[in-house]
Amino acid sequence: MTELILADGAVVGARGEHLTDSSAARGIPSSREVVGEFEIIAAATIVSSGGIGGNHDLVRAAWPERLGTPPAHMLTGVPAYVDGSMHGVSAAAGAHLINGDRMWHYVEGITNWDPVWPAHGIRILPGPSSLWLDATGTRLPVPLFPGFDTLGTLAHLRATGHDHSWFVTSRQIVEKEFALSGSEQNPDLTGKDVGLLLKSRLAKGPTGPVQSFLDEGTDFIVENDLETLLEQMSQADGGELLDIDQVRREVVARDREIDNDFTKDAQIGMLRSMRSYRGDKLIRTAAPHRLQDPSAGPMVAVKLHVLTRKSLGGIETDLDGRALASDGAVIPGLFAAGEASGFGGGGVHGYRALEGTFLGGCLFSGRQAGRAAARF
Ligand SMILES: Cc1cc2nc3c(=O)[nH]c(=O)nc-3n(C[C@H](O)[C@H](O)[C@H](O)COP(=O)(O)OP(=O)(O)OC[C@H]3O[C@@H](n4cnc5c(N)ncnc54)[C@H](O)[C@@H]3O)c2cc1C
Repeated sequence: MTELILADGAVVGARGEHLTDSSAARGIPSSREVVGEFEIIAAATIVSSGGIGGNHDLVRAAWPERLGTPPAHMLTGVPAYVDGSMHGVSAAAGAHLINGDRMWHYVEGITNWDPVWPAHGIRILPGPSSLWLDATGTRLPVPLFPGFDTLGTLAHLRATGHDHSWFVTSRQIVEKEFALSGSEQNPDLTGKDVGLLLKSRLAKGPTGPVQSFLDEGTDFIVENDLETLLEQMSQADGGELLDIDQVRREVVARDREIDNDFTKDAQIGMLRSMRSYRGDKLIRTAAPHRLQDPSAGPMVAVKLHVLTRKSLGGIETDLDGRALASDGAVIPGLFAAGEASGFGGGGVHGYRALEGTFLGGCLFSGRQAGRAAARF
């Protein structure tokens, strides 16, 4: 059996016949504009179309029970065209889909003020200092500190029954501890500009992209004092869920502990511990200070959303990237690699994966599939 999957999702058989219906019939989002059609016949096809994060319906359908109910509102953390449409097409060609419930979504998503695709969200890679509150204003439990346990925090926040949460923080913390994920948010890294890298990471003040969010971001509230900040938070969309007295208590309690050398506040203890490593002290952690300290201000509140990102399940393959049918038989000529195949059949690094190691698995499974396809 030889077939080809076209850019618009159509599957073409060995004799050029269309094996499936139009893209619209398979529910491919209208954000992808089909400008024409073509047909190519090939002996081997490698599906490397990425995960499902661009299609919230697919994400919700695959949402595992252990993470509670799927959020009604999410931001999209992958390009819109990474929409999982090829999963369905591959399944229609006989491929078995596995481990769809293995997914990795972030809880520190902010609405991109300058979106590249619909509902475009950016992930904050936060340092350890911000106060993290759920939608009602209750502090997240130990050890769910910013940047510590993505899936644990997602499970906890889903159990609260609300889609969003809040950072309450200071400008000084935002400057030092908010890194933004995505190539367009890191022109120094993507431009390989060492001068700009040193300037933006070591100099005082926020990076340009972070400053743009402070100025333009709809999820950011910047105020000089706690009472005005609380008022603005309560008036924000979703702010009606906040117990403002509880938020005030959390901020005051946290600030009180900053000056206590023997504090039992585990987050502050962890912050001090991280600062004993010079690298973290230089670029990842702000010097401990009270959130209400005017010299570290103004105060900042950030509304955080769930952001779709990585798929660890997909088209089942063998170690050569050959797609398998549900009975385990190899489908001749059909290969899969990268996120489309959960990095080669279920997640090379296991269910919880490892932050920053996704590309490696994608490249490796691509190499395996490419070599096997060449042999085929
Ligand atoms: C903002 C961001 C930051 C990340 N940071 C990291 C990091 O620091 N470290 C790390 O390891 N990983 C990171 N990742 C994850 C990593 O980038 C992905 O796991 C990896 O790029 C997936 O590679 P892939 O080739 O499988 O799929 P993708 O890179 O998603 O590529 C899929 C391609 O298929 C195309 N496509 C989809 N459907 C069709 C179709 N029907 N027809 C034709 N073409 C189609 C898409 O246009 C796209 O070009 C990040 C991801 C994002 C979005």
